[in-house]
Amino acid sequence: MNKIIIAIDGFSSTGKSTVAKLLAKNLNYIYVDTGAMYRAVTYFALENDLIGKDFFDEDALVRRLGEISITFKFNKEAGFAEVYLNGNNIESAIRTLRVSKFVSPVATLSAVRRKLVEQQQLMGKDKGIVMDGRDIGTVVFPDAELKIFMTASAETRAKRRYKELLDRGHELSYEDVLENVTTRDRIDSTREDSPLVKAVDAIEIDNSDLTIEEQLETIVGLAQEIIEK
Ligand code: C5P
Repeated sequence: MNKIIIAIDGFSSTGKSTVAKLLAKNLNYIYVDTGAMYRAVTYFALENDLIGKDFFDEDALVRRLGEISITFKFNKEAGFAEVYLNGNNIESAIRTLRVSKFVSPVATLSAVRRKLVEQQQLMGKDKGIVMDGRDIGTVVFPDAELKIFMTASAETRAKRRYKELLDRGHELSYEDVLENVTTRDRIDSTREDSPLVKAVDAIEIDNSDLTIEEQLETIVGLAQEIIEK
């Protein structure tokens, strides 16, 4: 069977990972959440007091990148691969607003991006992969056979993220979540290295009014067309 690479990029909280996970399951492909990798580096920086309110020791983080090992391990019950930092499961520790607040500044650093992109390219070398992020179709796999660019209004996205965090028991306000989503979009789209842009050959899907099933059906259809060619 002809295996392909599917790149899913887009703004924060567009539901990329939800669809990407289901898509990978449907096609029997590997799913890689690259946002989790940037979050893992951010978690390391927070744990080691390299970043915080009003300070960011970028040089120290770059110097200590060699101490960071990020791996994924499939969790059968969860149905997807969870992220580990130096052997410790940090899957839920990275899904906090605290990590979300600092991840975009960390992701502007070229040394961080180089390290993670290299690992991502290795993970995709045998194809049969669905990868989601911000620069997958533009930088990580510019030759990906299928590129999707997901969008939705900022309010729709903030509402989704707010509900997700509330369901997980976090205490926070909708305004904080909306502010985080729009700030991250701004930093991610305007950074110098690998800004979030739609690849010229990406297919844009605005999912503000689409169910997950509808999105999945569309993307599976697009993928099957390419695979069967
Ligand atoms: O996908 P998620 O929202 O978890 O990503 C968290 C952050 O990681 C993004 O806001 C962005 O700053 C960064 N990121 C990136 N490149 C990627 C994936 C994520 O810069 N490929």
